[in-house]
Amino acid sequence: MKLILLGAPGAGKGTVAKLLTAIDGSVQISTGDILRGAVQAGTELGREAEGYMKRGDLVPDSLIMGIMEKRLQEPDCAKGFLLDGFPRTIPQAEDLKKLLVKLGITLDCVVSIDVPKDIILDRLCTRRTCENSACQAIYNVKSNPPKQAGLCDKCGSKVVQREDETEEAISHRLATYNEKTAPLIGFYKKEGMLLSVEAVSSDAVIAAVKKELHL
Ligand code: ADP
Repeated sequence: MKLILLGAPGAGKGTVAKLLTAIDGSVQISTGDILRGAVQAGTELGREAEGYMKRGDLVPDSLIMGIMEKRLQEPDCAKGFLLDGFPRTIPQAEDLKKLLVKLGITLDCVVSIDVPKDIILDRLCTRRTCENSACQAIYNVKSNPPKQAGLCDKCGSKVVQREDETEEAISHRLATYNEKTAPLIGFYKKEGMLLSVEAVSSDAVIAAVKKELHL
């Protein structure tokens, strides 16, 4: 499958993407994971992106498009991909449209995951992430804590609160989402590509996607 996952921070895009990859071997492409990996590795991309990310601001479109143009041409994308956290602005969506034409790729649809705001806020404040950039497993102190407090079940690295998951940065990220990313729902509706799912559980989102794609 070739899908875009759209939704506010904390809507569950990452979780849904991981569940979908298990169905048909499509790869999850998370621009947030790629950027955090670059920051940890101290690459030039990481140095350019770090300040924006800490504040909860979006990284410039040109940087993101550079990453995605390369990433979509890697061989593992041939089987299918789930775009998690990209596109995030109308210019990114327009550039992606051109890029897909250039690469001869057709998307199945754009899944918009719609979760009530109070649930989103609660999730983000209680979310914890494995600090190992190659892992980045997600936990929740209330609903899904690691078996051993503070340590990742999968790789044993430290599980931490992300720097952009302080209350201040979270409310800034949500405001940025409403201003810059929410308009993509209208954009893809016009393109006739939108599948809107109102769901709190990831399983319900998976069920809706399977139905839409006849899987
Ligand atoms: P979440 O969806 O939980 O907000 P992500 O892991 O997707 O978090 O992104 C973390 C940060 O990385 C964003 O706040 C932003 O600074 C940057 N980022 C990720 N994807 C993009 C993108 N497509 N465009 C611009 N900035 C991005």
